[in-house]
Formats: sequence, C-alpha cells, structure tokens
Amino acid sequence: MATERTLSIIKPDATRRNLTGKINAKFEDAGLRIVAQKRIQLTKAQAGEFYAVHKERPFYDELCEFMASEPVVVQVLEGEGAIAKNREVMGATNPKDAAAGTIRAEFAESVGENSVHGSDAADTAAQEIAYFFSGLELVG
Ligand code: ADP
Ligand code: MG
Repeated sequence: MATERTLSIIKPDATRRNLTGKINAKFEDAGLRIVAQKRIQLTKAQAGEFYAVHKERPFYDELCEFMASEPVVVQVLEGEGAIAKNREVMGATNPKDAAAGTIRAEFAESVGENSVHGSDAADTAAQEIAYFFSGLELVG
C-alpha cells in the first residue's frame, strides 16, 4: 500500500477538554505521522465551506456553529494507507457504534460532537489538505 496523507481535525469538544495529546498518541501508536499541525479558530462561514458537502443535511447549521465555537487543531497525517487507517483509529461517526479503543469510543460526546474529523478518500484528502495548508507548511 502506498504512503498517503490525510487531513485530520481535532474538533472543539476535544480541544476544550485538553485531549489533543491523548488523541495524537492514538494516531502515532497506529503508525500515523503528524507532518503538519496548527491550532486555529474557524469562522462559521469557513466551517460551512469546509462541510459544504453536507449543506442539505438537517444537522448542517448545528455542525457549522459547533466547528466555529472554539479553536480546532488541523493536522496532516502521513503513513501507509493513511486515509483508511485514520478512519479506523477514529471509529464510527456515532460514538455509540464506535469500536472499543477508537478515539470516538473513548472521547466523543455525541454523534455531532465527536472529537475528530478525517478525510474519507484520496480526492477529498487532497482538497481538504489544500484548504488548510500551503505548500510551504508541508515538508516533503
Ligand atoms: P464522519 O465525520 O464520520 O466522516 P459524516 O461525514 O457523515 O461523518 O458527517 C460529518 C460530521 O457531521 C460528523 O462527524 C458529525 O460531527 C456531524 N454529524 C453527522 N451525522 C450527524 C447527526 N445525525 N446529527 C448531528 N451531527 C451529525
Ligand atoms: Mg465525513
């Protein structure tokens, strides 16, 4: 399997509870390398643009409010099959369905406030990385 990069976001429910280090340890223990990382606060409009694919969903407005409510940590994770591996480490969207030991099983508060975002495919990973990071911030 090829080395890939994926975009991860540690969401406001997790940064608020000081869980960045514990979540990063889960990534590193799974063999994912954090190759870029920064703490930022999104505006609601920026959160809306990032999650535009969900704009017809009933939870869209609530999701954008939540993502803009407090700072997030955006990061690029690299490794063999990083996109799927990160989704595995994250666990299912709803923490009630997330496998034991996954980030969402251990830390998520609800289906909406579920601690982490991870890209779902190669094309979205490339778009999402470019949304947050410039070439200068991505060391080869
Ligand atoms: P994932 O983050 O696992 O890729 P989705 O892409 O389906 O999940 O949804 C994006 C985000 O929208 C979720 O991580 C979660 O924060 C929020 N969300 C998804 N489904 C619901 C729901 N039923 N109610 C509230 N928020 C939701
Ligand atoms: Mg998704």
